[in-house]
Amino acid sequence: MSSNAIPLPDTDSLWMPFTANRQFKAAPRLLVGASGMYYTTHDGRRVLDGSAGLWCVNAGHCRPEIAEAIARQSRELDYAPGFQMGHPLAFEAASRVARLMPAGLDRIFFTNSGSESVDTALKIALAYHRARREPQRIRFIGRERGYHGVGFGGISVGGIAANRKPFTANLMPGVDHLPHTLNIAEAAFSRGQPAWGAHLADELERLVVLHDASTIAGVIVEPLSASAGVLVPPRGYLERLHAICARHGLLLIFDEVITAFGRLGAATASEYFGLTPDIITLAKGINNAAIPLGAVAVKRVIYDTVIDAANPDSIELFHGYTYSAHPVAAAATLAALDIYQRERLFERANSLSPKFEQAAHALRNAPHVRDIRNLGLVAGIELEPGPGRPGSRAYEVFLRCLERGVLIRYTGDTLAFSPPLIVEPAQIEQIFDTVAETLQSIG
Ligand code: PLP
Repeated sequence: MSSNAIPLPDTDSLWMPFTANRQFKAAPRLLVGASGMYYTTHDGRRVLDGSAGLWCVNAGHCRPEIAEAIARQSRELDYAPGFQMGHPLAFEAASRVARLMPAGLDRIFFTNSGSESVDTALKIALAYHRARREPQRIRFIGRERGYHGVGFGGISVGGIAANRKPFTANLMPGVDHLPHTLNIAEAAFSRGQPAWGAHLADELERLVVLHDASTIAGVIVEPLSASAGVLVPPRGYLERLHAICARHGLLLIFDEVITAFGRLGAATASEYFGLTPDIITLAKGINNAAIPLGAVAVKRVIYDTVIDAANPDSIELFHGYTYSAHPVAAAATLAALDIYQRERLFERANSLSPKFEQAAHALRNAPHVRDIRNLGLVAGIELEPGPGRPGSRAYEVFLRCLERGVLIRYTGDTLAFSPPLIVEPAQIEQIFDTVAETLQSIG
């Protein structure tokens, strides 16, 4: 322990999320401070953040402008009810978020997390079809390996088996899934979007025939599937999904909880791919993860349809959260969006992405590497599974990289990389060099 080490707290009471609690508590890894590209650990070490926290701290850590906005707002108006009352920053934040969305998606509903954004989006889709007198459109199509958070809606349309298994009997009815798009035999080591796989979107036509379009409310996918192991959409795949949805009147929901706010080098993945979905779910980078906030951006026609279907003096959508558009979260959003704009961070991500791609793919011949996938400032390095449990090798790499001063993520056997967009080229080198050295060093 270094001289500025902090004593470990009693770890018993906390039930940690998505964590092997016993394993963690036997050897806790605590973060006690952060600044820019770095975390500080409880034992006083500086760790380079190769994952922007959980894919969310896009402008880097502890930005003073955001901290000040939060402090100021909590002194001025700490909380305001959002039901039948409003406060100016809620409207201002909605307008600012709307300006970053593809043209037409300018109606914003605030939530507190990505999971809530997903559940909200599904409910809005159902409310929309009901309002336009097609209430039988109740099915959703998700995708295998999709991650849409942990609400019952999200795990139902999601496609990660472990997240669904204990709750199988209680998942939302009327959900089907597209196949995922990862095929290492066909597309290993693709740089950017794989050439193989656009045809997988045609599976949606098959599901439309099976269920009939008149029963389907919408399709939800992550444009780039991050949490389940960095699955980059094949070239032409999203365009086909978009066309099939439009043909059959299915709402296309892009879950952009990770991809929005610059991760791919544009405000949204929708903009990056030149596609306009009907609904976009947001969270994480919306305010640099400084305080919980999520949002759903919907096409104006969806908002108008739901609003106009109700009596003028009645609540149109029976949905909302105590903390929807919390003043402090809204203040943090305005400050974060200012930083993104002033520092041109989305453009920066775009201009760094060739360097990032090159650094990731330099590990192609490193030991245990099975595949490397990347787009924008996201990369995944899939490892051959180690002996024993799946994911054990990736876990070991994660631990050893942390010891060497670099924080990365791993999911299953895939190492995942998504640094803050302020990352410097030398830090990109450091992240991947550290992984390369670690892979050389493990059995
Ligand atoms: N949707 C996507 C695409 C995500 O990546 C995540 C989280 O990683 C979520 C939804 C859930 O967000 P939250 O953890 O804020 O509920």
